[in-house]
Amino acid sequence: RARSDGGDGVVHYCDSIHAREQTWVAIERGLREAIEKQQLFLMYQPKISAHQHRITGVEALIRWRREDGSLVSPAEFIPVAERSGLIVTIGEWVLHEAFRQYETWSQQQPLSIAINLSARQFRHPGLLPMLSECLHYYAINPNDIELEITESLLMQDMEKAIALMHELKALGFRLAIDDFGTGYSSLSYLKRFPIDRLKIDRAFVKDIQNNEQDRTLVKAIIDLAHNLDLGVVTEGVETADQLALVEQFGGDDIQGFFFSKPLTQEEIQRQYFN
Ligand code: C2E
Ligand code: MG
Ligand code: MG
Ligand code: MG
Repeated sequence: RARSDGGDGVVHYCDSIHAREQTWVAIERGLREAIEKQQLFLMYQPKISAHQHRITGVEALIRWRREDGSLVSPAEFIPVAERSGLIVTIGEWVLHEAFRQYETWSQQQPLSIAINLSARQFRHPGLLPMLSECLHYYAINPNDIELEITESLLMQDMEKAIALMHELKALGFRLAIDDFGTGYSSLSYLKRFPIDRLKIDRAFVKDIQNNEQDRTLVKAIIDLAHNLDLGVVTEGVETADQLALVEQFGGDDIQGFFFSKPLTQEEIQRQYFN
């Protein structure tokens, strides 16, 4: 069936793989430049407590502004950075930048910061020494820093992952499982993870008003977290109706466009500092 006249879909498939590879190569080249030219920066999305609606912390989210002013989404370049290994350099920059920001903010108003760790960064042998060095270099309380690790990342080589998590906890950091519910982790492992919180993926929240099953799942995850003595952050809350349901289910913290999109450091200060 693999004819080359383009009529059977096979050639088209190969073409699109080739095109994607070229895009990846271009993004990788651009990313190396972005690091040198300091085109990367962090935005911060508030996490708001249910019912009281007070800010409890922010999640640091990376952005890349190209020379022409256009923004590239991390969904586009983080996977490329991950595959090429550039994520180790980028991730290190993210940690330093977030710690520096935390230090600055803590002189006015302490604000806990969540930072995403990618799979490769999490398993990189340099991560732990680097983090313990940061604890000396910056005036940070690691209890105010939450490291977010995706559920799917933990599924590969689970024993190693659990050992690494224990080492991060030993340094004093808080740990959260990001995108929870999308990575198929078995519940028997969940109780072995030395974590503080679950973050419910926004895929479950999107249709929560109309979809009975999604409602059941969100409520079940919140109850599961609480029964394991874990906190829970619900991501992707965009409407008052979604918020009402999550609050009714007993969710702790809310992160989503209903309260705020990711903001610049100046906007955080202007909108949330006394
Ligand atoms: P994530 O860690 O799950 O971050 C939450 C994403 O959901 C963010 O997208 C945020 O802007 C978006 N979001 C939050 N609330 C809403 C909402 O109500 N509606 C919608 N539609 N979206 C919402 P963002 O900033 O584009 O980041 C995408 C992903 O890229 C992150 O997902 C994370 O996996 C990755 N990422 C971002 N920054 C970093 C970083 O510094 N390091 C690493 N390793 N990954 C990062
Ligand atoms: Mg995250
Ligand atoms: Mg998430
Ligand atoms: Mg996500």
